[in-house]
This record gives sequence, C-alpha cells and structure tokens, in this order.
Amino acid sequence: MVTGGTARLLISNGGEAPLELTVEPWAETHQFPLNQTWVVVTHSPAADGSWSGTLRGNEPFQVDHRPESVTVWVNGNCFHLSDAEGNAIDSADWQCPAQGSAS
Ligand SMILES: [Zn+2]
Repeated sequence: MVTGGTARLLISNGGEAPLELTVEPWAETHQFPLNQTWVVVTHSPAADGSWSGTLRGNEPFQVDHRPESVTVWVNGNCFHLSDAEGNAIDSADWQCPAQGSAS
C-alpha cells in the first residue's frame, strides 16, 4: 500500500438542483444528485505523497464550481469515485499505484 500518496475529497450537493460533476483530466461526467455526498480518492505514485501536474503548489485536488456544474481536477495517477456508503460510482484506476500490478 502507498499510504503517503492517498488523498480524499468529500463533495456535497447542498444546493437546489442536481449538478453536473466532471472529473478531470479524464472528462468523466456524472449527474450529482441533490443532498448527496460523494467521495473522490486519488493516489500518487510518489512515496512521499507529493503530487504532480498541479496548477499551484503540490495540491492533490482543485474544485471549480459554476452555477450548474462542478469540476474536480485530480492530480494523482487515478481516481476512485464512490458515494457516502462506499459504493463505487466510477473510477479510472488502470494506473492506480495503490492496487499494484495485477498482470
Ligand atoms: Zn488509486
């Protein structure tokens, strides 16, 4: 396991309408229902838990909110999207350093 390279982000829709949630740079888009909390997890291949590809300093996530949409930029190798109960919604985990090489 890569403990130093894990980042978790909770996102909640406490607004008045569903939002379009986009996870970049994979451009995965989902309807984000009202009154839900989802969890975005990403992993870094760096043992010290540093993050590459950031716009500003060593940040694992950036969130851009607009009136009807929210975009989560993930700066790790992978993302794992689940609901508050831990049920998987989507992922791009083929380069996930925490899952090891399955092949
Ligand atoms: Zn991962």
